[in-house]
Amino acid sequence: MEGATSKTQTIEALCGLVAAYDPKADSKEITRAYEFAKAAHEGQKRASGEPYIIHPLAAALNLAEMRLPAPIIIAGLLHDVPEDTQKTIEDIRNEFGEDVADMVAGITKLGKIKYRGIERYIENLRKMFLTMAADVRVVFIKFADRLHNLETLENIPPKKQFRIALESLEIFAPIANRLGMGEMKGRLEDASFKYVYPKEYAWVKEISRSGREGKQEYVDKLIVQTDHLLTDAGLGNVLVQGRAKHLYSLYRKLLKNERNIARIYDLIALRIIVDNVADCYAALGIIHSKWTPLKGRIKDYIAQPKPNGYRSLHTTVFCEDGEIVEFQIRTKEMHAMNEFGIAAHWAYDEHGKIALVGTKSRTPEWVHELADIQKEMEDKKLYLQSLEELKIDVFRDRIFVFTPKGDVIDLPEDSTCVDFAYAIHTDIGNTCTGAKVNEEVAQLNRVLKNGDMVDILVDKSRKGPNPDWASFVKTRQAKSKVKQFAKSRIASWIKGMMPGGK
Ligand code: MN
Repeated sequence: MEGATSKTQTIEALCGLVAAYDPKADSKEITRAYEFAKAAHEGQKRASGEPYIIHPLAAALNLAEMRLPAPIIIAGLLHDVPEDTQKTIEDIRNEFGEDVADMVAGITKLGKIKYRGIERYIENLRKMFLTMAADVRVVFIKFADRLHNLETLENIPPKKQFRIALESLEIFAPIANRLGMGEMKGRLEDASFKYVYPKEYAWVKEISRSGREGKQEYVDKLIVQTDHLLTDAGLGNVLVQGRAKHLYSLYRKLLKNERNIARIYDLIALRIIVDNVADCYAALGIIHSKWTPLKGRIKDYIAQPKPNGYRSLHTTVFCEDGEIVEFQIRTKEMHAMNEFGIAAHWAYDEHGKIALVGTKSRTPEWVHELADIQKEMEDKKLYLQSLEELKIDVFRDRIFVFTPKGDVIDLPEDSTCVDFAYAIHTDIGNTCTGAKVNEEVAQLNRVLKNGDMVDILVDKSRKGPNPDWASFVKTRQAKSKVKQFAKSRIASWIKGMMPGGK
């Protein structure tokens, strides 16, 4: 990522990149947005002394790398116009229409955060979640914007460098991770790393360099060998590639392993991309029959996806000449999801089709839940008090549970059958009397696990939830429904006791 300077970045390159994944995209319209932004920012300079327009252009290029459709690219080009120039949101609405103007308005609102310290931190989190719940595309633009600012931090004062980098590391990267945007998370972290922990950065960079030194030839040979191995075994459409490890994630791994590089097994890492899930497992078997796997290093994130939706098979094997090599095996669709996460719902594949159909409503449930909590907390002091709670909520792991029809319900860890029932519908929650988990009868307070299939049994004549459920439900939604019902029941009971009451 370093060295990707803005000087080689042009509007022609941007249009070419977009046309490659979306042949129907209107290059003229993208160029018109570029010219509009360029004229609006005329005379403004970046801290580097370069014309300002290189910044929105670089942000748009970051969005194009995520294969996002033209309207998001256009909004990216225009993202600083209302904030920094004479042109207004109205001008953008007239020139580029409602959808683009709404995204630019969203990013402008998100940008007006002038707090410092802890207040700024919370305010930032709050605005990010509200924005995400309203239109997650705005958050993609924010990431693209932030990434370019991070990659050009060298020209600004050290104190500001540190603050921006720290904020990126502590807020933006974890959010990118929760949204499953692995590539964006890695780039944000690596760009921030050297400003937040300069010494550690130098140390890890050296370790990574020396660990890979002289191995390139080995890796190249292994890629060809693996490709032949899988193709000869009858797998079609195999793609084998080398994988550079992100420095910050290597650093985190080193910290976990007592800073001992000998315990980091995946300095050499290959990725295998195949056509379908069956081929993933076939490839794993072929690899294992050729090279001996390390004990305890086989991970099946296809059957058991990570809470952020990451899916892949991992294995670490003793390869040629005793080298330890990690393989990640996945389909093309999984790969797109692992790299781009929620952004993949908007992304195009190379044939110009939307890879996964998506709308604003594809935003995960936990985002809405967080946004709701934050909307209710108008009081600043309350923010401060609940900071810890919020942090836990952001990072708290989620589980994915299935309905009998195969719909996926996203719940916090340790959720129960009752949480599941309320997540489907309030009426289902209020009238549930029992449950089946993986086709076996289960108690309503049963704690669910990732991948469970849950069938809720209801009794329509049931008056409402059992107040005792409040003691075990995990989700905010279930808790408030159970309490609400108990309260209204007590209220009507008290009313009934009062003289003249009904
Ligand atoms: Mn910007």
